[in-house]
Amino acid sequence: MSYSPVEFVSRAEGAPRRARPHMALVIPCHNEAEMLPKLFARLERLDADLQAARATVGPMDVVLVDDGSTDDTWSLVESAKTSLAVTGIRLSRNHGHQHALFAGLMNADADVIVSMDADLQDDPDAIKDMIAAYSKGAEVVYGVRGSRDTDTWFKRWSAQKYYGLLSSMGVDLIPDHADFRLMSRKALETLAEFGETNLFLRGLVRQVGFRSETVYYDRAERAAGESKYPLRKMIGLALEGVTSFSIRPLRIITMLGFAIAGLAFLFTLYSIIAWGFGQTITGWTSIVVPIYLLGGAHLIALGVIGEYIGKIYQETKRRPRFIIDQVVSSGAARSTTPIVAQKAAS
Ligand code: UDP
Ligand code: MG
Repeated sequence: MSYSPVEFVSRAEGAPRRARPHMALVIPCHNEAEMLPKLFARLERLDADLQAARATVGPMDVVLVDDGSTDDTWSLVESAKTSLAVTGIRLSRNHGHQHALFAGLMNADADVIVSMDADLQDDPDAIKDMIAAYSKGAEVVYGVRGSRDTDTWFKRWSAQKYYGLLSSMGVDLIPDHADFRLMSRKALETLAEFGETNLFLRGLVRQVGFRSETVYYDRAERAAGESKYPLRKMIGLALEGVTSFSIRPLRIITMLGFAIAGLAFLFTLYSIIAWGFGQTITGWTSIVVPIYLLGGAHLIALGVIGEYIGKIYQETKRRPRFIIDQVVSSGAARSTTPIVAQKAAS
């Protein structure tokens, strides 16, 4: 009997590589009005450096995604005072860093796409090394912080605990790599096939695979403005990382359940034996403590299960992962042929 296997593996053939790849820089911006003039000035310098090395890299586009800013960010993007080729994408509201970045990535039109933060904490010079690694065949190049001296002790401590927790949960991540990375169009087209609503890009890109390289850089201080990642958003991202990529918390709960049930069994055995020896159990503690213990264990278990059910609920809705309000181009920006464009609302 002839049998044709179901095609379940996505195949990214990718276009043949250009000798001088076109590059796009994707930068999510949430209330970065203070930052933008500095960012433009710094990127113009990078562009000039890259122009000088035109043998290895072609034109550079800058894709700025305004993630529901409430300050002047969008007007600064619309009337970008720079010689750079800028494309501005305005999201309909604050979708969060990961979604804003994804919106930019999916709308970039280039052979190599580099994602970075707006605050210049990621060293733009490292992009030169990233391009060199791409030229040698890497499809994904991870920017990894060589030192975290400029971060607060809390940020350093929490980051260390965070990577420790994620790796103990079996999540595949590159330590000290956030979202400063280069991806080839081929890698990005594959990423576009991941249909999930909950985005934790640094984990997803690991799932995409392909040949990858690492580039080290020193993380600078935020050049202007304040962090747009308050503790609440940081905890949200950490939870996202665990619950999007690992079901180990569920297993731990199950094992805990068995351990507690085992203890209860031993308790019963002990009381039967004690009863056999004619000793009555008078302890109040032995009744009340297990009630609280089990009550607590149940609640934790329900909470963890709820977290996953919540995810299933969200995924089944298959909502758009970002909604674009407007797209503008200035300078020599080429008309975009996006990888996956969401319908513009206007
Ligand atoms: N950002 C965003 N949406 C948000 C929060 C942040 O687009 O809801 C952007 C922000 O403008 C910056 C990047 O994400 O370009 C990283 O944020 P930030 O530098 O504040 O984070 P930190 O470096 O403090 O972790
Ligand atoms: Mg930052």
